[in-house]
Amino acid sequence: MIVMKFGGTSVEDGAAIKRAADIVLGRLEQRPVVVVSALAGVTDSLLAMSRAAASGSLPEAMELLRQTRQRHLEVLSGLVSGADEAAVRERIHTLVDALRDILGGVATLGELSPRTTDTILSTGELLSSGIVNAAFQSRGIPSVLVDSRRCIVTDATHTRAVPLFEETTGRLQRELNPLLQINQVPVMGGFIAATAEGVATTLGRGGSDFSAAIIGAALKAKRIEIWTDVEGMMTTDPRLCPQAQRIDVIGFDEASELAYFGAKVLHPATLIPAVEKNIPVHVLNSRNPKSKGTCIRFRAPRSRTVFRAIAAKKRMQVINVRSPRMLMAHGFLRALFEVFERHACAADLVSTSEVSVSVALDSSRDVSALLRDLEKLGEVEVENEKAIICLVGKHIRGRVGIAAKVFQTVAEGGINVRMISQGASEINISFVVEESDVPEAVQRLHRCFFEAGCLSQAAEAGTRLQEPSLASHLGARPEVG
Ligand code: ADP
Ligand code: ASP
Ligand code: MG
Repeated sequence: MIVMKFGGTSVEDGAAIKRAADIVLGRLEQRPVVVVSALAGVTDSLLAMSRAAASGSLPEAMELLRQTRQRHLEVLSGLVSGADEAAVRERIHTLVDALRDILGGVATLGELSPRTTDTILSTGELLSSGIVNAAFQSRGIPSVLVDSRRCIVTDATHTRAVPLFEETTGRLQRELNPLLQINQVPVMGGFIAATAEGVATTLGRGGSDFSAAIIGAALKAKRIEIWTDVEGMMTTDPRLCPQAQRIDVIGFDEASELAYFGAKVLHPATLIPAVEKNIPVHVLNSRNPKSKGTCIRFRAPRSRTVFRAIAAKKRMQVINVRSPRMLMAHGFLRALFEVFERHACAADLVSTSEVSVSVALDSSRDVSALLRDLEKLGEVEVENEKAIICLVGKHIRGRVGIAAKVFQTVAEGGINVRMISQGASEINISFVVEESDVPEAVQRLHRCFFEAGCLSQAAEAGTRLQEPSLASHLGARPEVG
């Protein structure tokens, strides 16, 4: 069997859903399970209406809700007719009416909990999967709607729930195998799951990719296909740099690093289940299904370029903790990271000097409690609107002159680099810049390492191999503050 996941833009309207149906029709003999996201923009809109309701703007929330209902009804009526349309129409009204009641409750209480957020957000995929299933049936696909909340079991960490793999695997096999055995095509909403008690949860933004991988691993899929709106994994985000090129084959390790550091084309957790079961993941373009896309697998041929790709992760903050007492004091770092651990804050980049530590982390998290605890250790300063730029490539290790070229290229654009790190995996060079500098920095680096010019020089520079650490090229110690 295979898993085929269609992202938001691949089911955004009637035309996109028809394209998805044609793609699935062409693979029926491979016994697909289909995973769909909410229609493009719907999850954002659901979030916007929940926030509007919580902040007392119920009329605004109701207007967004009206548009959401209207959009789904319109998409449906362009795809399905007769009794089938009536049944799905009824489903849309039931789901949207329930949402209206929840939003009313949120407005009355003036409070939006993560648990309620998940119930609201799950509506997006419940709506889209019902429409896609009906559209598939009307095009001759023997599809069956399967409720992901019955199959994917998670903990109760609402808005970024963690799957309980054993229970999930059992349930997926019980629900899906009998359908696949009689050549039916299960259609499921991605992103959504539930706790063992049946309370709706979600797997984090962009989580439909993760759903696809969880299902693929549980059913030992031959392949997981991620159908999206670009040609595959590219050498950088094509929205940031139109010169981005499709990557033919990439290793799991490099692709994970890219996803983690902002390549939105894949949810960062997607590859974990795939790696464990050694299932190749293909990223494909639903607007151009004949294109080869990108294959992500264990072994990838060495890339012709120094780096495989460049990613950028925006909305970062840098927390600096300064303490003269820290000079030569062992135990400081442990105390510091214990604070991060206690607050379940994952640090994306860390650099240290004798008197200070800088930690870059996602700025969407409320860190006020973390900061209060850090202040007990030293003087704390927070810098916002930062971004991490990450260049990934397996063969940078030990190559002389690569880092110099990276930072020279960035410096020539007048861009200030705030923190530098070479990932522990030694397959990336990452650094922090102002968020507003991201397009310029990425375009410059892409020109240098992927388009022409200094690429060959960098390749020549990178010939000697004595396993020196990157830090030794940069000076004795990573730069701070
Ligand atoms: P979907 O709705 O199909 O899940 P997403 O919007 O989540 O699609 O991801 C696809 C987007 O990821 C592309 O439109 C592109 O702008 C962005 N992206 C960022 N980095 C990369 C990259 N390295 N390769 C391809 N796409 C990327
Ligand atoms: N609809 C969800 C989101 O927009 C999940 C996904 O599309 O993968 O985040
Ligand atoms: Mg996505």
